[in-house]
Amino acid sequence: MRGLMQDFPLLVHRVLDHAARWHGSTPILSRSVEGPLHRTDYARLSRRSKALASACQKRLGLKLGSVVATMAWNTWRHLEIWYGVMGLGAIVHTLNPRLFASQLGYIINHAEDQWIFTDLTFVPLLEKLQDSLPGVKGFVIMTDAAHMPTTTLRNPVCYEELLASGDEAFAWPEFDENTACGMCYTSGTTGNPKGVLYSHRSNVLHGLMCALGDAMAISSRDVAMPVVPMFHANAWSMAFSVPISGAALVMPGPRLDGAAIYEMLTEGRVTITAAVPTVWLMLLNHLEQNPALRLPDLQRVVIGGSACPESIMKAFVESYGTDVIHAWGMTEMSPIGSLGIQSGRAAGLPPEEWWTLKLKQGRPPFMVDMKITDDAGNTLPHDGKTFGRLKVKGPAVAKSYFKGEGLAAFDAEGWFDTGDVATIDEYGYMQITDRAKDVIKSGGEWISSIEIENIALGCPGVQEAAAIGLPHPKWDERPLLVIVRKQGSEVSRAEVLAHLEGRIAKWWMPDDVAFLPEIPHTATGKISKLELRALFRDYRFPGSVLPD
Ligand code: AMP
Repeated sequence: MRGLMQDFPLLVHRVLDHAARWHGSTPILSRSVEGPLHRTDYARLSRRSKALASACQKRLGLKLGSVVATMAWNTWRHLEIWYGVMGLGAIVHTLNPRLFASQLGYIINHAEDQWIFTDLTFVPLLEKLQDSLPGVKGFVIMTDAAHMPTTTLRNPVCYEELLASGDEAFAWPEFDENTACGMCYTSGTTGNPKGVLYSHRSNVLHGLMCALGDAMAISSRDVAMPVVPMFHANAWSMAFSVPISGAALVMPGPRLDGAAIYEMLTEGRVTITAAVPTVWLMLLNHLEQNPALRLPDLQRVVIGGSACPESIMKAFVESYGTDVIHAWGMTEMSPIGSLGIQSGRAAGLPPEEWWTLKLKQGRPPFMVDMKITDDAGNTLPHDGKTFGRLKVKGPAVAKSYFKGEGLAAFDAEGWFDTGDVATIDEYGYMQITDRAKDVIKSGGEWISSIEIENIALGCPGVQEAAAIGLPHPKWDERPLLVIVRKQGSEVSRAEVLAHLEGRIAKWWMPDDVAFLPEIPHTATGKISKLELRALFRDYRFPGSVLPD
């Protein structure tokens, strides 16, 4: 027997309809790409999204299933494009401008993007790339007539002129909630990037999940600032979870340095924000250099994308009274998979024990299921010690990549192999110990590169740390620790090793420490272990002779 409840497809533009109707005057503050701060609200954003949708239908020929790309910062205009294009049943493919030009060309062609919406910032990049993009009909430049550049881009369209030709009373079409609405490619550190295709249903459910009390706990009393770009893993849900909750929005635009972020935090009176550790490092450096500055409104910072060092967490909590939520996820999971929120059971722990759990990547909220397994697929215990391959399931987890690629990551029972290696403890807190391909295999046992790095970051004078496994004649692999010193620091090999001593198992101790002026990063800001290993290809540990 079927239930007798209404059909109410979970379509993302219903989120904006709700925010516009019930939180219409709630503000959205952005730093514009042109420079000045810009203010709008949900009611206005909704009217403009509808006008844009109608103009895209009439003038760009977009319809159900069309794919358009955005190369844009987090601003009100980028939100209008998300809602306007998705509301048509078309698909927004977010492009990460930090990818290599050849990778961008590959994914634009692979996704079959018909139009590209671009911020002024990226016009020169696209001018150089456009000849390799035969399927792209034209480019919408996200600015007004006064700021339109002279450009060689084919079919350049001014965003504000396009929008002005649309109808604010446009009625959203109805379609199935499983219709695709967003596309984001993985960064492709091994082989070509692969496309992840979000649906309306997955984005709405994921937005609800992220707003939950044991997730980001977003409410209409909050002001939320997604610093994490909309082009990186769906902005960690915030373009949906924030309007779902009726919270105010602050969009940081193109400037992500410490001073600019601080300005937006204070100007918008932000209560919750989210980004990768490097952004917070820049903010904390800015605050350290300006000791009079405080963060009186900021209640919580969500940090993820790569492991959050203890030093960053403690600085927020102890120096600024701002709580930190360590989160883990991936593009394929829309992206949130776990959050380091204090569970009812963990609330009874003494503070020091709670900190041990808080530093981990956290617990899965409802709609994410996870397990760790050995290589044969056997489920491993939640004892906080046993490492295993981390596998996940849920309504906002990919079941396939675009065009059926990367099938090996999905098993017959519907589990997605994240490629991460993790432990899960008796309280249900998951800790990432490595990417499967970065784990250091020494004498048949696994050494967690992430743990060595986290501890090394606590050593005074260390700016950045990366541990990699290099071949060793006896042990298969041994760890090499690569360090970038803080400006002005002369921290030595012996000091770094002394800092690690006693904090990690003896056999985890790096065989050597190397110093570099900088460490290579991927387009999503993670340390590129692939490049680092290539850099040290010919390196030999002191005293070790490897057979050729
Ligand atoms: P992306 O799809 O670019 O978001 O990358 C996802 C990968 O980033 C994950 O599979 C992890 O390897 C890594 N990652 C994300 N968040 C964390 C975290 N909090 N700690 C450690 N690694 C993380």
